[in-house]
Amino acid sequence: MNPISQIARATRPIYRKLSTTASLSSAKPIPTTGYCFELSDEQKALQELARKFTKDEIIPNAAHYDKTGEYPWPIVKKAWEVGLMNSHIPEHCGGMNLGVFDQCLVAEEIAFGCTGVMTAMEASGLGQAPVILAGTKEQQKKYLGRLIEEPLVAAYCVTEPVAGSDVAGIKTKAEKKGDEWILNGQKMWITNGGVANWYFVLARTNPDPKCPASKAFTGFIVERDWPGVTPGRKEQNMGQRASDTRGITFEDVRIPKENVLIGEGAGFKIAMGTFDKTRPPVGAGATGLAQRALYEATKYSLERKTFGVPIAHHQAVAFLLADMAVGVETARLAWMRAAWMVDHGQKNTVLASVAKLHASEIANKAASDAVQIFGGNGFNQDYPVEKLMRDAKIYQIYEGTSQIQRIIISRELLAAAKQSNA
Ligand SMILES: Cc1cc2nc3c(=O)[nH]c(=O)nc-3n(C[C@H](O)[C@H](O)[C@H](O)COP(=O)(O)OP(=O)(O)OC[C@H]3O[C@@H](n4cnc5c(N)ncnc54)[C@H](O)[C@@H]3O)c2cc1C
Repeated sequence: MNPISQIARATRPIYRKLSTTASLSSAKPIPTTGYCFELSDEQKALQELARKFTKDEIIPNAAHYDKTGEYPWPIVKKAWEVGLMNSHIPEHCGGMNLGVFDQCLVAEEIAFGCTGVMTAMEASGLGQAPVILAGTKEQQKKYLGRLIEEPLVAAYCVTEPVAGSDVAGIKTKAEKKGDEWILNGQKMWITNGGVANWYFVLARTNPDPKCPASKAFTGFIVERDWPGVTPGRKEQNMGQRASDTRGITFEDVRIPKENVLIGEGAGFKIAMGTFDKTRPPVGAGATGLAQRALYEATKYSLERKTFGVPIAHHQAVAFLLADMAVGVETARLAWMRAAWMVDHGQKNTVLASVAKLHASEIANKAASDAVQIFGGNGFNQDYPVEKLMRDAKIYQIYEGTSQIQRIIISRELLAAAKQSNA
């Protein structure tokens, strides 16, 4: 048995226990109120498992997947085997029912190794989230249970060629015919689009343009193998090239009524509500990338000499490192708070946006500063930081651009201010 499987075998029952018992087995009980920055023993074990997996399985192979753009199936399958995928799937489907916080711990570690791999893994979580949020027990058992039984992945299909930020502008439509819905339209930029076993699909079901978004759309579970589902070519992206991004065409796809989530008209709320759970892991991924930039830049700055001293001894370089460290720490705190809130049943929409926005900006600055510290070498593929800079950019775009996060945060802020003035 390989060392990772051994750790997994030893720790998997602990994760299961964590999900069902309130008090943990560590000698020092973890306070449930007040601030606490200590991970539980189970969380430490999970983090350690993810860290070791990243070191052994991801870092040695990241450059290969970046160069070839191949989907990292061998890594995804191993991650599934050791319990690093699907941790949040409910127990009645065979999952471990872990919280968003624990998922974020894993995401940050995986992202340290390669955010392309992290996105490939996390996008499956994004596809699953609407089913966890809004699925019936039967839908969950069928579709989430399938991901526990076999190393398969899901995807989330909302964006279209005509609409990304403006979700209410999507044109894909579904029409009711007897006990079925007929789906037609085109999605774009779907992560895992070519490799997923099933998709969450948002479609317009009320053609009246005056119908409010909160009632006009319906969420469906659509299987990849159904007639009329056609993924397009793999898109050649700037970064995170291990991740599979495609357009998908739906042509007269027949969806049984059992695959509607909640009911007709509930789709928009489901699609948007999903982000409360998925933006903290995106923030955690961006934090992992920033941490890697800091790690590589610090190491290099102690090795590289100019004017007779390591470049770390030049204050201008040391201060770049200090600023990167501040960014990593605050980005981590932001995802931790947002994840903790949603795990404790608190509305976290604004803080999920804060976490996603802040970590995205930090990742881009840290990667750019790491390239600066590497000098000419930073611009070259033989060194690790140019990949970080290419990989970082997408964090400011997917799961809501940085501008959209600012809209969410400011809207909420202004509404609260108006209310307190009223
Ligand atoms: C690699 C990759 C993976 C992705 N994965 C998925 C996926 O799995 N599932 C999925 O559904 N989608 C996915 N997306 C889509 C992604 O979420 C969208 O690209 C993103 O939401 C932006 O939409 P858009 O590209 O249509 O840009 P647009 O909405 O056209 O925006 C263009 C620019 O205008 C700005 N802008 C737009 N509206 C406003 C406004 N009101 N105020 C201020 N600025 C504004 C935007 O911030 C942006 O800078 C992915 C995209 C990429 C590139």
